Amino acid sequence: MDIQEEKTELNAHNKKEYPPMHTAEHILNQTMVRLFGCPRSKNAHIERKKSKCDYELAEDPGAEKLDEVERIINEVIDRHLPVSYEYVSWEKAGKLVDLSKLPDDASETLRIVRIGDYDVCACIGDHVQNTSEIGHFKFLSHDFTDGRLRVRFKLTE
Ligand SMILES: [Zn+2]
Repeated sequence: MDIQEEKTELNAHNKKEYPPMHTAEHILNQTMVRLFGCPRSKNAHIERKKSKCDYELAEDPGAEKLDEVERIINEVIDRHLPVSYEYVSWEKAGKLVDLSKLPDDASETLRIVRIGDYDVCACIGDHVQNTSEIGHFKFLSHDFTDGRLRVRFKLTE
């Protein structure tokens, strides 16, 4: 790595997220991208007790398909994957991840977050060090309106 970490200036993260829930959000995003080819959630509300994420989908995936999403997420969590960081230039980051969600004033050096070999994205939030710290993932409800799937979920032991 040719970028010195001490030179890195990251933008202030204006909301403090609960690391296990926020890390689960990464895994959920990647699972939705893999199964449905949709973008990562652009509208997420992450809280300690329960969270919600919206996804742009052409049609309602239905309860059975979401059971599969839940099962895959828990399989990923149960692999006890390490969360790792890399600081890279904007240019290099663009080859690794979709940067369209980032604000225009994002810092020149971006932090890339990897969850084992499962997910990679640019993020300055707080994460667990290993997916073994997340617990397990459970959907609480979902609804689908006008191309928007909203899921609510929580973490269990
Ligand atoms: Zn994150």
